[in-house]
Amino acid sequence: MTDLSHLKQDFPILGSGVHFLDSGASSQKPIPVLEAMDQFARTSYANVHRGAYKLSVAATDAFEAARHRVATFINAASDDEVVFTRGTTTAINTVAFGWGLEHLQEGDVILTTEMEHHANLVPWQMVAKRTGATLDHVAIDDEGRLDMASFEDKIGPEVKIVAVTGMSNVLGTMPDVKTIARRSHEFGARVVVDAAQLVPHAGVDVQDLGADFVAFSAHKMLGPTGIGVLWGRMDALEETEPFEGGGEMIANVTLHESTWAAIPHRFEAGTPSIIEAVGLHAAIDYLDSIGMEAVLEHDKKLTAIALERLGDVPGLSIQGPKDLTDRGGVISMTMEGVHAHDLATILDENGVSVRAGHHCAKPLMKCLGVAATARASFYVYSEESDIDALEKGLRHAGELFGVS
Ligand code: PMP
Repeated sequence: MTDLSHLKQDFPILGSGVHFLDSGASSQKPIPVLEAMDQFARTSYANVHRGAYKLSVAATDAFEAARHRVATFINAASDDEVVFTRGTTTAINTVAFGWGLEHLQEGDVILTTEMEHHANLVPWQMVAKRTGATLDHVAIDDEGRLDMASFEDKIGPEVKIVAVTGMSNVLGTMPDVKTIARRSHEFGARVVVDAAQLVPHAGVDVQDLGADFVAFSAHKMLGPTGIGVLWGRMDALEETEPFEGGGEMIANVTLHESTWAAIPHRFEAGTPSIIEAVGLHAAIDYLDSIGMEAVLEHDKKLTAIALERLGDVPGLSIQGPKDLTDRGGVISMTMEGVHAHDLATILDENGVSVRAGHHCAKPLMKCLGVAATARASFYVYSEESDIDALEKGLRHAGELFGVS
């Protein structure tokens, strides 16, 4: 078991003593990431792909080096399969509007699941409305895992795209995306994976995973906000139209029509997030130096400790599976008679940061039969002392509300 306790010192914000348990929403940034962005902005910043001058060439080289770093991290077949986006949301919208509007029509089915984040639901609802395609949803089982029998029931030749999460941001469960991709392809469907949680916490080998599109955000993997990735297998990207037009994405423009630049640039209209790309590069270097297996192992170790420790907190229910199979470091909780927001406020007063609400997964909340949960989520800098504080805060909240 790799000990990651030395990492905490790399995260200045944690020096304040806060027990930060909201990494599922966004992660903190280590010094090497902050320094890489600072150094780049001080010495090499200019717009990319434009100037013939030295600074612009240096900035372009750094931007493209970040693309290459992403490609090697996820084992993409080529750097050209890596599209920089604003984040997971924009990446999925690129697929929904760029691929979906082109290829879906009445009679077609878009298959998503009951455990999706709104980012992998709402774009498909919008595209279904415009194309006449219908939406269907794979069910979750009683434990909060994706029900593969339900998937088998729903997959068929009328399904043209399957949109599935790689890891639930509410329950931490990790659907068997490899099997889903293989089976979907047998029916000719494309597969898009919302990997906003999966890539930061387990890493992904896109060739091994077998999906057509994979979306993730830098800010959840120790990097900055404002940049994310859409990986697409080249043949899937070739089937996709750009859904944003503007500078940088064209080959030629006349007053009446335009032709597109090569992939991936046709999907990157306008000035991209340049400093942020350098930050993402540094974040990947940082994660790689730990090793993604060690990252997941650390999350799981803390989850096991938390599940055991929180098991006998009076009135507390934990949503999702209690065993660690195919599960990451996310724990959603409700306390009898205490609203999730009150729980989070009391925890905050005890120095513990957790998120409360529907976590952008309202349909999943409905399936779970709750309006909201309080969610604790772990990352590389989380420690057992954070769980001590969480447990203490939860017991304190129970006492305040007279839960026994
Ligand atoms: N999907 C999942 C599973 C998420 O957890 C999130 C972030 N909460 C998103 C999508 C959206 O990511 P972003 O806000 O970075 O676009």
